[in-house]
Amino acid sequence: MDAPILIDGERKLADGQLRQVMNPARHDEVVGRYVAADAQHARAAVAAAAAAYPAWSTLSAGQRAELMLAAAAEIEEGNSARTELLTREHGKPRAEAAHDVAGAPKVLRYYAGLAARLDTPDVSEDELGRIVRRHQPMGPMAVIVPWNAPVYLAYLMIAPALLVGNTLVVKPPSYTPLALTDTLQVLDKHLPEGVINVVPGSGAEVGSALARHPDVRGIRFTGSIETGRELMRVAADTVKNIGLELGGNDPALVLEGATISDHLISEFVRGVYAGTGQICYNIKRIYVHSSHYHDFVERFTDAVAELTVGDGLEPEVTMGPLNNRAQFSFVNRLVDRTRSSGAEIRTVGSPHTGTDWGRGWFVLPSVVTGVSQGDELVQCEQFGPVVPVMAFDDEAEAIELANQTEFGLAASVWDDDVGHAFEVAESIEAGTVFVNVHRVGASDAAMEFGGFKQSGLGRGHGWAAVEECSELQVIAHRPGWVEATSRSQPS
Ligand code: NAD
Repeated sequence: MDAPILIDGERKLADGQLRQVMNPARHDEVVGRYVAADAQHARAAVAAAAAAYPAWSTLSAGQRAELMLAAAAEIEEGNSARTELLTREHGKPRAEAAHDVAGAPKVLRYYAGLAARLDTPDVSEDELGRIVRRHQPMGPMAVIVPWNAPVYLAYLMIAPALLVGNTLVVKPPSYTPLALTDTLQVLDKHLPEGVINVVPGSGAEVGSALARHPDVRGIRFTGSIETGRELMRVAADTVKNIGLELGGNDPALVLEGATISDHLISEFVRGVYAGTGQICYNIKRIYVHSSHYHDFVERFTDAVAELTVGDGLEPEVTMGPLNNRAQFSFVNRLVDRTRSSGAEIRTVGSPHTGTDWGRGWFVLPSVVTGVSQGDELVQCEQFGPVVPVMAFDDEAEAIELANQTEFGLAASVWDDDVGHAFEVAESIEAGTVFVNVHRVGASDAAMEFGGFKQSGLGRGHGWAAVEECSELQVIAHRPGWVEATSRSQPS
């Protein structure tokens, strides 16, 4: 597939340099190409979004929702072919890719379902007068997407912004632009021209041009903390409304009251290794009460050893490659440094026999013990299939260790006593604290999501995302207040 630039309803395939998208499971195989937009395309896309804004923003949310629902139905029809495309450009096994592409119609439908609430006037009246509160769109917005779950994450930003009446310029990620752009071409067919524009290309050039543009009123960004900081700096010049979903270093706390069952162990395997560890809210640090530590480490390592690593298109494969060379080098060097520091690294799992191991960015999963809180593996976002497991003796200590970080995306507490787990959860500094689960999909479109501390700004998902994509306008007529205050003024 060749992914075009899309501006004002026009697909531009011959307008820029074609860049190849490679298969991480066979890194000499070209999956497709995208047309790399430049800063000039970014400006043209913003102009198209600005021109489309007056008509789009004056439709009712219900009218916009109808178009979103029609797009959702057509996107869904193409999702089985898109699943394979996403596996080939990303590396993740088919089941994970299917979950990612299913996010597009699911999230469009979820937000279309909030149209009636958005269209219902919010009016309060009392003896002082009448106040009307309205969620107004902002104008053209930029949506900047990461490579790790490109379709689902893009639609979590796109759908609420469209429902409110904003027009959009979307910048897909360079490693995985194909399946996403394929869905966006379908979405574009159902919307008036210029409502959605797509500019694939480099973050430093295209993303930055969008962030600097004075007509872009808001930015929705999902990606790394470093890029999020840079966007805040750039957006400050024009005081843009900015929403940031950033990195995580999620702790999981297995309390004394937890039963180390097969179910718990298998949830941990999914929670750590789904997406080959490349999910913002995967479990990235495990703290286990010392009474369970040995049992947990042994059974967890045995279960991780069942993973089969290889080309995600192969049905027996349960963990794909890392997505790209940079991530592959980063994870391998991190593991080497952790080993040299004296930690015990158990690398387990099996290479898939039908996969050509040397042709992909494959790494086997690892379980690491003998590390402590200050170690690099515990402090950084590894974004790979390697996890530290540490013991604690009392809960207060575990909570302190979980919170000793600048990250605050998600966390989990595991205990048979759910009420007690909720109490402990209240002390954890994270935007989402799961109880007895912690894996992809556990935070669905309806559940607000976002980070404490440096893991982000604002909240996505749910009604919160509608509010974050809008300007709250208050229209007030207050004759009672005027009369009361004029009576109290000295004449
Ligand atoms: P990244 O920050 O490198 O890139 C994200 C997007 O920003 C890409 O489209 C990129 O091209 C663009 N970009 C890069 N530099 C830019 C600039 N100067 N101006 C504007 N745009 C720019 O992140 P990534 O490597 O694609 O994704 C992995 C990171 O994303 C991890 O840290 C992960 O935890 C995080 N993430 C967070 C969430 C969440 O919901 N909190 C979800 C997924 C991923």
